[in-house]
Amino acid sequence: MDTPLTARTFSELIDHHATRRPDHIATHFNERQLSYSGLQQQRDSVATALQGTGIGPGDRVGILAKNSDRYIELLLGVTHVGAVVVGLNWRLSAKELSYISNDSDMRCLFIDSGFADVAEQLIDSSPSLTQVVVIDGSTPNWPNLDGWLGDTPPGNSATTPATADSPALQLYTSGTTGNPKGVVLPHRAFFDPWVYDEVANMAWNRIAPEDKVLLAMPFFHVGGIGLAFMALRAGACSVIVPEFSPAAFIDLVPAHKITRTFLVPAALRAVLLDSRAANADWSSLSHVIYGAAPMPEALLLEALTLLKCKFVQNYGMTELCGTVVHLPPEDHQPGSPRLRAAGLPTPTTELRIIDQTGNDVATGEVGEIIIRSPATMLEYWRNPAATAETLIDGFIHTGDAGYLDEDGYLYIFDRMKDMIISGGENIYPIEVENAVFNHPAVSDAAVIGIPDDHWGELVTAVVVLKEGSAVTEAELISHTKDQIASYKCPKRVIFTDELPRNASGKILKRELRQPFWAGRE
Ligand code: ATP
Ligand code: MG
Repeated sequence: MDTPLTARTFSELIDHHATRRPDHIATHFNERQLSYSGLQQQRDSVATALQGTGIGPGDRVGILAKNSDRYIELLLGVTHVGAVVVGLNWRLSAKELSYISNDSDMRCLFIDSGFADVAEQLIDSSPSLTQVVVIDGSTPNWPNLDGWLGDTPPGNSATTPATADSPALQLYTSGTTGNPKGVVLPHRAFFDPWVYDEVANMAWNRIAPEDKVLLAMPFFHVGGIGLAFMALRAGACSVIVPEFSPAAFIDLVPAHKITRTFLVPAALRAVLLDSRAANADWSSLSHVIYGAAPMPEALLLEALTLLKCKFVQNYGMTELCGTVVHLPPEDHQPGSPRLRAAGLPTPTTELRIIDQTGNDVATGEVGEIIIRSPATMLEYWRNPAATAETLIDGFIHTGDAGYLDEDGYLYIFDRMKDMIISGGENIYPIEVENAVFNHPAVSDAAVIGIPDDHWGELVTAVVVLKEGSAVTEAELISHTKDQIASYKCPKRVIFTDELPRNASGKILKRELRQPFWAGRE
């Protein structure tokens, strides 16, 4: 039997596995495989080179790259010298990235060669940024990673200055409701024994070294890097995809006999829409984790039928280092009302639902979800006002609306900001979206409120139809009337080709609302 994991930092984690399973494959990327001892050596040479550049405890080091094994090596090397990884969303514009590199006081930046032009702009606009290193290939101005690591002797780096309370990662929130905020997460958030021993003990999450984990969601978000971390923690083998595509997913699952993965609902939807999905070989899959955004029930049922494995929902957020609520496989029976739940708080999560005055609401009543967990962020970087508003007495005020049922299951009812007030009634778009979504012609849907003199806000469904399908506005409205109270039903339907989404696959309702509310919000 394996010795229990006592690691409290990323460095201790890799040392643990490199001693116990040196030759076990840790990462598989394209044709390249790296063992746990190989990963440890790479970590050490990155750390030594960083120290040579003067990077040390508390310094911010950015990574602007698609997912790869080198991303993991860099993360381990940077945290090994006590510095902090800033994961950058490569879908952001140069202006947005420049805001982050300045905001974080980034000193060094690792990039994919494809982002060289953006890096050029960042170095011009960020006084603290002095070193750029190109992970793959080379550019005229900056060294290639392997060249930069040079002939640094492997295994020669200094001791680990990081402790459990040192900051390890600075991840920016998805920017669904406004500007992304820099969430500072300590090593402890990834290693707190209370959190991880309990979570790892849950059958659905008991990843074994023999597991093959497909990392398909971006590492710059907590969901993507969170699963990478869980796989490393388990000493398992991660198969890494630079960027999600349904085609790669359909090819890689059978090719690598993938057992576990995490997909956001938008990615699952893309897999289901791919014509090859129905005949693909999904037999190796044991668990699919989904979450990060609301999962329409109709989509979940389709996915369960297609993939025929165990499904687990995760609810969480960057500020809480990922998952705090989970819906286990046994609650995924078709027809079960639990299919609409986000699930049960994990054992170390304290979850309350409060009203506007801060008092707990009764069971079954909707209010704001607030959560206390040992894996909470330290702060929003350089934003004490936002930190004070969100982190109160150890509780993260999530901004999400929800209720708890008698059995303690959490049901999420959207963001507080997305609630529609129409005719004096509070309407949560998710209920309406589920009713619209299960019409057979509907491929995607979002429900928003638009200003209306009579109703205050008019419940409006923005709908994408499946290719070759047709339905009228009146038909769709009457379809919802069979399922939900008529005051909640859309009064207007807008047909469109695509909904705006961010890199986490979340629908940007503020963009949908914007043309109607310009000058009024
Ligand atoms: P920002 O804070 O910048 O507006 P964001 O909240 O989308 O962006 P994240 O931290 O990536 O940034 O996402 C956390 C949010 O995602 C949660 O607050 C919740 O609204 C949503 N979410 C996460 N998991 C689920 C889930 N299982 N079901 C529904 N919504 C979810
Ligand atoms: Mg948020």
